[in-house]
Amino acid sequence: MAQQHMLVNGEATLARSGATFERLNPLDGSVATVAPAAGPEDAVAAVQAAAGALPAWAALGPGGRRALLLKAASALESRMGEFATAMAAETGASGLWAGFNVHLAAGMLAEAAALTTQVQGQLIPSDVPGSLAMAVRQPAGVVLGIAPWNAPVILGVRAIATPLACGNTVVLKGSELCPATHGLIVQALQDAGLPKGVVNFVTNAPQDAGAVVEAMVAHPAVKRVNFTGSTRVGRIIAQTCAKHLKPSVLELGGKAPLLVLDDADLEAAVAAAAFGAFANSGQICMSTERLVVDEAVADAFVAQLAAKARSLPLGDPRLGPVVLGSVVDMSTVQRCNAMIDDALAHGATLVCGGRADSTLMPATLLDHVTPAMRIYHEETFGPVKAVVRVQGEEAAIACANDNEFGLSAAVFSRDTARAWRVASRIESGICHINGPTVHDEAQMPFGGVKASGWGRFGGQAGIDAFTELRWITLQTTERHYPF
Ligand code: NAD
Repeated sequence: MAQQHMLVNGEATLARSGATFERLNPLDGSVATVAPAAGPEDAVAAVQAAAGALPAWAALGPGGRRALLLKAASALESRMGEFATAMAAETGASGLWAGFNVHLAAGMLAEAAALTTQVQGQLIPSDVPGSLAMAVRQPAGVVLGIAPWNAPVILGVRAIATPLACGNTVVLKGSELCPATHGLIVQALQDAGLPKGVVNFVTNAPQDAGAVVEAMVAHPAVKRVNFTGSTRVGRIIAQTCAKHLKPSVLELGGKAPLLVLDDADLEAAVAAAAFGAFANSGQICMSTERLVVDEAVADAFVAQLAAKARSLPLGDPRLGPVVLGSVVDMSTVQRCNAMIDDALAHGATLVCGGRADSTLMPATLLDHVTPAMRIYHEETFGPVKAVVRVQGEEAAIACANDNEFGLSAAVFSRDTARAWRVASRIESGICHINGPTVHDEAQMPFGGVKASGWGRFGGQAGIDAFTELRWITLQTTERHYPF
């Protein structure tokens, strides 16, 4: 069992009230972590620490920030084993998923290090004689990052890396489901020698999330909020930010379609579908949730994908390497079971897998899914996937867009010009041609449309999100006024 601390102004702290909460292992119910249950006053102290550290961090040159972020990338990677243990204990994740998380998150810190010299402005021609007009990017201030449990290292790091590169100081609000995993990120940043107060970390009991988050959003020093999580909570965050007029980046749920057109390379499509659908047991925002397959190739595609799905190793990740570990909790099992029952009652066919009675859920495929079924519309966020058969390209596009979400998508076709035309008509922030829906790289503009949120992390888009763009003029000659 891990005893977690928060981090405020470089000090490991507990909640002022002394309150704690427990995170239990999803497989055996043992206590994985005991963490401080912050109240609003603890959260405000973390913001104050970040505000205190802001002037010096913002004034540090790009070289200084870059060196520390590069050290943090190495420090994160050197804790790989600890991350794998914490993720298996807290969320049931496989070692494969933990390794991928740490590797990509270290890449995000390295990319953030490179961004420190890319915070650029502009000289803009002015009609006022002698006026040198500039667009200048400055650090925004304190940035609040709120991260979920499902890709905990990637999303915890993403919440703070680019903001730090831009000269902001941060507060990371960890997930109640993985406080020790999120705590390890903060420890790695401390190992790297980031100055006190530049990174602060708050943990809270589930019932206190609303009050803790609002106390921070409302604080005048907090200038940006980024949230990765469900659309349900994203709407609450958006309302809270609107109330306090704080700009936000919202990365929310998804229901990614993978389109298999009649001329697709089926072997490539099956490989991408299996990876995109079942990596981390389907608990990824970019997970392939809908396999939209042309009727002409559907029988062959489904047979091949089912064979692959049945072959995926499933088990307790603490006992050895698996592809499908435990899902995060029984509520995932109940949600997926209900969607399987509903689909079967409305005429779907179970191809492989099926209902689960523990958090070890098999890779499950439902064929002949129609809009009458819940699984057609709702995020399963588990290893239960829908095959929707369509006739022709137009029907495939219509099906892809017949959903409230719009995060990731994929199109498979041997005719890449055709696939490009299809991709351009899909309503999603991200679309991959002949590649899986699950794909993330630190330098790419990552984000969704519709109920998947707004704003972009990654590269230049991240700089735009986490800096203040100012117009500053310098009058170099005598200025003439009308009176
Ligand atoms: P969640 O929305 O339940 O929780 C996320 C965070 O919200 C937690 O830190 C929690 O403390 C906080 N929260 C809960 N209630 C709150 C309230 N009333 N006010 C303020 N904060 C509150 O999400 P989750 O279950 O941790 O994550 C899974 C969801 O996240 C899925 O829908 C998934 O698609 C989405 N997700 C999106 C992305 C993306 O980049 N778009 C990435 C990963 C996950």
